[in-house]
Amino acid sequence: MILVSSCLAGLKVRYNGSHSLDQEIKKLVEEGKAIIACPEILGGLQTPREPAEIVGGDGDDVLDGKAKVIEKSGKDVTELYMKGAYATLEKAKIMNVTKVVLKENSPSCGSSMIYNGEFKGHKIVGNGVTAALLKRNNIQVLSEETFITHLSKL
Ligand code: SF4
Repeated sequence: MILVSSCLAGLKVRYNGSHSLDQEIKKLVEEGKAIIACPEILGGLQTPREPAEIVGGDGDDVLDGKAKVIEKSGKDVTELYMKGAYATLEKAKIMNVTKVVLKENSPSCGSSMIYNGEFKGHKIVGNGVTAALLKRNNIQVLSEETFITHLSKL
């Protein structure tokens, strides 16, 4: 089974109430080949919500207690992002997920690039919190930008 970011399947769960619909990913869900999850909603956050970025590192550093997830106004939401990551991992394990397709650049779902914590639109190489946790648990993490090359094998 594949797990995909809810926003890529068209659900309006992004911080600003929008989605990031990818038609191919939506099709996987409609065909029963994929299930959806939004780590931030699973962590207890609401839509809309403040944008948040990882400050002091990336998702691996958050898991190791060396960086934090901070909302634009300064509120520390690290605990909620951690909760969402572990809830997503649990869902993946229950559903025997071996592969995930997560939204790039997100502080939860980014799997190669994330914003750098300055809220100025600058990106750095790194994982979001959920992507880092899933990778540590030997689940293959793709983004909507890389999964197309794997589509024939899904
Ligand atoms: Fe999409 Fe992931 Fe952000 Fe949820 S946490 S809105 S699934 S990128």
